[in-house]
Amino acid sequence: MKTIRDRTGFIGLGIMGRPMARNLLAAGYPLTVWNRSQPGIDALVADGAAAGESAADVAAKSDVVISIVGDSPDVEQVAAGIAEGGRPGLVHIDMTTMSPAVTRSMAERYAEAGIEMLDAPVSGGQQGAVNGTLSIMAGGVQEVFERCRPIFDVLGKTIVYCGPGGSGQVVKLCNQVVVGLNNLAMSEALVLAAKAGVAPATMIEAVRSGAGSSWALQNLAPLVLAGDFSPGFKIAHQQKDLRLALEVANESSTPLPGTALVHQLFAALEADGRGEDGTQALVQVLEKLANARVAP
Ligand code: NAP
Repeated sequence: MKTIRDRTGFIGLGIMGRPMARNLLAAGYPLTVWNRSQPGIDALVADGAAAGESAADVAAKSDVVISIVGDSPDVEQVAAGIAEGGRPGLVHIDMTTMSPAVTRSMAERYAEAGIEMLDAPVSGGQQGAVNGTLSIMAGGVQEVFERCRPIFDVLGKTIVYCGPGGSGQVVKLCNQVVVGLNNLAMSEALVLAAKAGVAPATMIEAVRSGAGSSWALQNLAPLVLAGDFSPGFKIAHQQKDLRLALEVANESSTPLPGTALVHQLFAALEADGRGEDGTQALVQVLEKLANARVAP
């Protein structure tokens, strides 16, 4: 890979991918883009990107391809296209949250074709993607990671090399354990305040800058008070991440009782057909259990 700035591909133009691709365009990376459905492609073409015809086509026109799709099977589909269209020396940076084991076997298959892979999942939510302030946790060959650092610098603020292939995904799953449990802690605190006669907004104001603060309290709690359950981060994706964390825990005999509980509570929302809602809806399970109402 000579000048990665010259030929960059981007696949997956959803809640996260769209603003990330926009930031790369704004930083001067000419992009060829691809998405499963057309609206994401149209949005980026309107911003100046070139439309690819498939993942294979994007790979054929790129030296580095970034993807951020849904789950492991989606990345496998993208990777099949990249293997078909890409030449030796191409780098695939996958930023989806997916299985560390699938990531490792994908990187092994790529190696046979001379294609490099980095797993570089992200944290920081939709706002972090828009602002270019994501936390990026990367796994793969360190020299490839260093070559791709200029791209990461556009997309994120905290960029950490975590180790060989799959390490970025393991760290991201640790992140999701913390995110899930902080969401539950926030939800319990909101319901407790409401039931014990203190305005939840007052509780948030007092707690948000102290030892009990969290990203969830600062970013999700105000959405709950506004009755806004639209997705920054979908319940379906959170459930995928908790399932992956529990799978990795199972493989290493690591009990994760809190994570298992949060996974089960989210299942109640999925049973109500709410997988596409934002994860802040967890509070509504607690509201039901407590016969409480947090939002005015
Ligand atoms: P999303 O809005 O569902 O976006 C995923 C995008 O990928 C969609 O546009 C989808 O196309 C496209 N896609 C899926 N499979 C594809 C394929 N085989 N080929 C081409 N395009 C494909 O999800 P998101 O919220 O952006 O999340 C993306 C990933 O980032 C997930 O792994 C998630 O866990 C992770 N993540 C999300 C957040 C967050 O706050 N949202 C934060 C950190 C990490 P369609 O338009 O056809 O659906």
